[in-house]
Amino acid sequence: MSEASVLEVFSSIQGEGAFVGQPQVFVRLAGCPLRCAWCDTPHSWIVDGKRQARIVALAGQRTEPARADAERVATWVEEADPSGARPVSVTGGEPLLYPAFLVRLAAALAPRRVHLETAGAHPHALARLVGLVGHVSLDLKLPSDLAPPVAVAGEGESAPADEREWSVARRAALALVAETDACVKLPVAAGRAPADFEPLLADVAALAPRLPVFWQPITPVRGAAAPDGALLLALVARAEAHGLAARVVPQVHRLLGVE
Ligand code: SF4
Repeated sequence: MSEASVLEVFSSIQGEGAFVGQPQVFVRLAGCPLRCAWCDTPHSWIVDGKRQARIVALAGQRTEPARADAERVATWVEEADPSGARPVSVTGGEPLLYPAFLVRLAAALAPRRVHLETAGAHPHALARLVGLVGHVSLDLKLPSDLAPPVAVAGEGESAPADEREWSVARRAALALVAETDACVKLPVAAGRAPADFEPLLADVAALAPRLPVFWQPITPVRGAAAPDGALLLALVARAEAHGLAARVVPQVHRLLGVE
């Protein structure tokens, strides 16, 4: 399957992770099996055959059939940024539901740089993309922040269903990106304890110690609150104790009021 269900293509400012502040083109794909309590894109969870893709080109905004192949999506990217200079951030939802599409999209967009944003729940799909994309932003979740995964049409690989499976997937994903251009993002909501993150930090330190770590305080949504400064300072210290280079970066696009 080399098509994907596309929600939107638009230009904006990267608000998270290692390239925060950089102008990028965003390709948001529909479908995610996870249900993070603080998800800021719940409209991306469902693959809805009746929905249209929103294309924000320099010439204006329009809709197109959401189901599209990589070559078609590449033309939408060119319309959003005719200069060809902006990297393309493929986000979701969970882009790794569509590995065959992503392989073709990276080729169709070359030499434009492609960044992949993923929860790392699909390591077999990630293995197909490492080496084809310029950057991987690995958003690691606390299993306790997740509701049980739901079935979403993808290319066969299921999301982890329990803490043991999450540990296996997380370690596989970290090993895959350890020596690549990548970063680890760790979203943090209020009420979490520093010890909750210990298994995640231990895995990053053991498997991908050279990757920068970004603590990302969540933007309050649907009753989930942002963490206080004391928790963030404690988390930074805990990452440092593991020998990791950690920073705290909130969702800057939300602060700027851009999408
Ligand atoms: S993985 Fe991303 S899109 Fe899916 S529920 Fe979590 S935050 Fe939302």
